[in-house]
Amino acid sequence: MRGTLVLNASFEPLTTVTPRRAMVLVLRRKAVVEHAVPGSSFRTATLDLPVPQVIRLRRFVKVPFRQQAPWSRRGVLVRDRHRCAYCGRRATTVDHLVPRSRGGGDTWLNTVAACADDNRRKADRTPAEARMRLLVEPFQPTPGDAVLLAHGSQWAGAELPDWLTVRAAPQAA
Ligand SMILES: [Zn+2]
Repeated sequence: MRGTLVLNASFEPLTTVTPRRAMVLVLRRKAVVEHAVPGSSFRTATLDLPVPQVIRLRRFVKVPFRQQAPWSRRGVLVRDRHRCAYCGRRATTVDHLVPRSRGGGDTWLNTVAACADDNRRKADRTPAEARMRLLVEPFQPTPGDAVLLAHGSQWAGAELPDWLTVRAAPQAA
């Protein structure tokens, strides 16, 4: 069974819970359903409701310190929506802006999703040296994004509303 995404009252993704737990929060009026799985059904003796895929808390909860998203290749691909940063086609590889052979690190700001062709073409150069322009700037995911990234494969379907997908644009500082 898929987990249900829980949003803060401010729409920031917080965590995931089991669909059953999500239903309890909704029935206790702690949360509202933002998105349900179409055609699905959650049955109890007295209820027959669509399975909530995304719920939102009615009251804002203050979240203490939360960890930044750990870097991963898969995370970079999800962050960039599997689109090549150089040509916009489907990306299956991760490119290091400053190549690793020249000290570039595995960090969110030094990596972008890239198609295999562009990754090969860029080779051991920076984008400037290779005269390849970036269509998007890499950005550091927020802790809220981290929740989405952690569930990136689970949410791979296009059924989620746009405002829930990880931002493709750089964050305003
Ligand atoms: Zn490309």
